[in-house]
Amino acid sequence: MTSTNDIRRSFLDYFEGAGHARVPSAPLIPHNDPTLMFVNAGMVPFKNVFVGLESRPYSTAVSSQKCVRAGGKHNDLDNVGYTARHHTFFEMLGNFSFGDYFKEQAITHAWTLLTKEWGLSPDKLTATVYHTDDQAFDLWRKIAGLPEERIIRIATKDNFWAMGPDGPSGPCSEIFYDHGEHIFGGPPGSPDEDGDRFVEIWNLVFMQHLQENDEIVADLPRPSIDTGMGLERVAAVMQGVHDNYDTDTFKALIAASEELTKTKAEGEQQASHRVIADHLRSSGFLVADGVLPANEGRGYVLRRIMRRAMRHAHILGAKEPLMHRLVPALVAEMGAAYPELVRAQPLLEATLAQEETRFRQTLANGLRLLDEATMNMGEGGTLPGETAFKLYDTYGFPYDLTEDALRARGLQVDRAGFDAAMAEQKAAARAAWKGSGEKGSDELWFDLAEELGSTEFIGYSGHEGEGVVQ
Ligand code: ATP
Ligand code: MG
Ligand code: MG
Ligand code: MG
Repeated sequence: MTSTNDIRRSFLDYFEGAGHARVPSAPLIPHNDPTLMFVNAGMVPFKNVFVGLESRPYSTAVSSQKCVRAGGKHNDLDNVGYTARHHTFFEMLGNFSFGDYFKEQAITHAWTLLTKEWGLSPDKLTATVYHTDDQAFDLWRKIAGLPEERIIRIATKDNFWAMGPDGPSGPCSEIFYDHGEHIFGGPPGSPDEDGDRFVEIWNLVFMQHLQENDEIVADLPRPSIDTGMGLERVAAVMQGVHDNYDTDTFKALIAASEELTKTKAEGEQQASHRVIADHLRSSGFLVADGVLPANEGRGYVLRRIMRRAMRHAHILGAKEPLMHRLVPALVAEMGAAYPELVRAQPLLEATLAQEETRFRQTLANGLRLLDEATMNMGEGGTLPGETAFKLYDTYGFPYDLTEDALRARGLQVDRAGFDAAMAEQKAAARAAWKGSGEKGSDELWFDLAEELGSTEFIGYSGHEGEGVVQ
């Protein structure tokens, strides 16, 4: 079996062998974009190179980039534990061309690596292209010999990428792996595409236009390539499993939580083990890159992730803080590839232990309140917003934790009611500070908090990596 660590290495070696500069992963906190919460794609650290603001001593590069999609436009937090292919933290393998090679070579590289180097069966692969991109369609015919019915034209934004309203843009071509008839789902573009049978493994972006105000105004004189392949997804393919959570890395992490909780990752408990393994990784990598749990901004996203994992540890019957005891398994799996994890191990263990100790003081009472409030609710019921707010305010339950807790029972939360209760409390706090007459620092803080969203990062504008804090 090819290990996840081997696959990462093999990807980097392949492209380095083809002349690409091997660039280490950038930290998860974007240094070149204050509006972006976390690095969420391999191209983010290269943004300025693509737009010509920065130059590098190379024109092609390869990386395995740490990514977090747990806030903002790309938010996969709610998918975790429920789909086979989404994580909050994952590694994006990517090769990049800055005005060097273009479509033909990008497709050739992808196809060669997948089918020759790694030996995947061409019959299992399907490509999508943007509906007007005849060039890519023809290249998939020519290079890969894919039959026409397995080159699918897609007309949606899924196959058109833009850096923002202004800047480079272009069509994408995505490669899907068919995990087999025994799994529900149809090919991309079909009515059943949301199933899990066809899994997107690699996205090739052909940057060929220049946009202004969301309109294409020119073609780039030297088009560029940005690709991203999910390491965990391709590991599942190469290890002959359908589910990312059945790959070597996740199996090791889940074995550790099984051992410590004396439970099995089966039946109802499977999702809990998966959430714990996933959130252990994102917590670990975020702490290693300098994020600590807090009540606002990035730190609050981290706190949400940690507390959600901690609720699942509680579900599994953990009587004592659990998460920090899983850190050695994480470091054993990933510390060689990411030495920052090894360096952060003591801090990570201490942070998790402290957060879980604090949260456990209110967790049981909060869950009791939640049970009482929903006792008589049948499937489809809605928890009042004020109750969700009380759980947040008094028991330290992030909103999405409450949502996650009710999801398994088919219940929802009244989001608008929650927001209203939150706004009311803010207004009351603001009024209480009105005393001094002039606008003091506290009131300025309230303004700022309101502007930036003191407790929760709500979203991005509609463009890749161009985050606007709402
Ligand atoms: P999906 O449609 O499955 O959500 P995506 O189109 O949002 O994926 P891209 O933005 O194209 O993903 O990212 C490039 C690659 O990164 C994807 O092809 C996939 O292999 C991987 N990837 C994206 N999101 C995740 C995630 N949350 N967890 C694991 N891998 C991911
Ligand atoms: Mg997605
Ligand atoms: Mg997609
Ligand atoms: Mg994609």
